[in-house]
Amino acid sequence: MTASDLIAEVQQAGGQIHTDGEHLYLMAPDPLPIELRERLRERKAEILAELRQRQAEYEAAQQIRCMREKGTVPEHYSAITICSHCGPVPIFPGVPETVEGCVWCFNRVKGLPMPRVRQRRFRPVVMGRTVAGVQVCIDGDKGERA
Ligand SMILES: [Zn+2]
Repeated sequence: MTASDLIAEVQQAGGQIHTDGEHLYLMAPDPLPIELRERLRERKAEILAELRQRQAEYEAAQQIRCMREKGTVPEHYSAITICSHCGPVPIFPGVPETVEGCVWCFNRVKGLPMPRVRQRRFRPVVMGRTVAGVQVCIDGDKGERA
């Protein structure tokens, strides 16, 4: 049983675990079984590490959301998708080429800055051969990126 499993077990029992420095606190409408509290005590270090990692992930997600709200393209948004509402937008890799809605839709609806994506035809010469394609530039706060 992992620390995540124990945290989930507490939540299924209607409780929550909080940390404050090196301490774990349990909040539950009814006292949790003593056997569960014993297991939590035994695995305290792992639970603390798990909760800290979750907090760090949450803070990173909040930071990315704040960047997007300013129209800033997060560093890892290295792909392009075509949103049916926003048009071409920068996105993280793995998103389909076209989507019905995107992470920038919130900006569009709220009138917040939108990233600009420019596409232009080009014929670069690669190893002596001309290659046709589309070059995509993303304007973020760190300047132009391909
Ligand atoms: Zn969109």
